[in-house]
Amino acid sequence: MARLLLVFPILLLFACHNSGEKPTLVYFAGEIVNPTSSHVVLYKNDVVVDSAILDDKNRFAFNLNEVKEGLYHFDHSPQYQYVYLEHGDSLIIRLNASPEYFDESLVFSGNGSDINNFMIEMFLAFEDEEPLVYSYYKLHPEEFSKKIDSLRQMKLDVLNDLVASNELSEGAIKTAKAAIDYNTYLDKEVYPFYHKKKTGEEVFHELDKEFYAYRKNIDHNNGELAFFRPYYDFMKNHFGNLAYMECYENCGMESITAKERLHYNKHKLGLVDSLVKVEDLRNVLFRNIAMDYLLKEHMANEDCDKFISKFAQLSNNERHINEINDLYRGIQNLQPESTLPNLEFLNTQGEKVAVHDIVGKKQTVFYFWSGDQRGHFKNVGKQIQKLKKSHPTHKFVGINLHTPHAKWVQMVREHRMDTLNQFRGEDFEEVQRAFIISSLNKCVIAKDTLVVDAFANLYTSF
Ligand SMILES: [Zn+2]
Repeated sequence: MARLLLVFPILLLFACHNSGEKPTLVYFAGEIVNPTSSHVVLYKNDVVVDSAILDDKNRFAFNLNEVKEGLYHFDHSPQYQYVYLEHGDSLIIRLNASPEYFDESLVFSGNGSDINNFMIEMFLAFEDEEPLVYSYYKLHPEEFSKKIDSLRQMKLDVLNDLVASNELSEGAIKTAKAAIDYNTYLDKEVYPFYHKKKTGEEVFHELDKEFYAYRKNIDHNNGELAFFRPYYDFMKNHFGNLAYMECYENCGMESITAKERLHYNKHKLGLVDSLVKVEDLRNVLFRNIAMDYLLKEHMANEDCDKFISKFAQLSNNERHINEINDLYRGIQNLQPESTLPNLEFLNTQGEKVAVHDIVGKKQTVFYFWSGDQRGHFKNVGKQIQKLKKSHPTHKFVGINLHTPHAKWVQMVREHRMDTLNQFRGEDFEEVQRAFIISSLNKCVIAKDTLVVDAFANLYTSF
């Protein structure tokens, strides 16, 4: 689960005090093989609960008193995973932090490990099934539903066995079930769109009520799960689907053209506003819709102004509102003909080089990669080779993010990359903010220190 995208930002340190009930100690410790950072941070939703530094044997430990029972996540930058904590738990993890092993290697032992190992097992099962499910999207709705339902049932059977042989709390069972259900329901929410795309059908395939029968089981107001990826992803796509279908059927929208985007996204904000009452969840969904809109629109115009004021009316999270305003400011600064932001990168010698000194008279294409994302690194390498041939007058400049200096230099040498055109961004967040890196395939095209297209894509813009 490496992340280079805009993620939940980190909040301030937070301590929790409930006064005198039953013993509430929770012990959560572990050993990290091949650590990628010096510490482990424990979160409840987007709030830091505690952080621990690895000792000389790469071990960490949390002694938590009086924390709320439920779902947490721990972050060993740049990766994270969930952990379910209950009072009296004494959990030990072992994991290999190399990106290719992180999730697969994670094993829990001790008190509380059953539910946590189950959650990891489900996470990996869904990940493994992805290509299979993808191949099902071309099937007719009834057939698709049947396949998806049977995958779900297999997982429920495993859960039922676990419930029968262990004393899981009600909360743990609910969370495990939510992991199964929302991952499954997500596949159904996106079905109409993927089906249309995969089959080439001209209109959305007619779906009867039965197809969406699961919707009666969904909880639009589960604040406990607001930051749980399967639930959050489901909700995002659910509202995307609801808004799209409503606009399609009732608002005369045929597809989301640039002109319709404002209407569609305002419609989506309105749906969240009417169906979601839990504050945390409302706010993260509003934030997601706003990010999505501004990044797709990536313009500075009246529609964006209108949209942002609607968003600011609905969200009551000041941090999100500031973040969206910052993003919009960043987008405004990257419009064509603007001067490139004043960034500095490091060359392989470790010297600082101003972005303005990298761009020349030629069109210069900045692309981004990270040592953690090997698949992406390989693909981008191939794509750049192709583009160099088809666009011989362009200059292609790779910006590495998120890889320690020595490792980056080693990768550049190993792959015989042109050291004159490879740089490293030291402050990931600064580069991400200035260049608005919202997708791995994004690139920024500049010439003579001016922006040509700051929202180009390596695969579709050339
Ligand atoms: Zn509409």
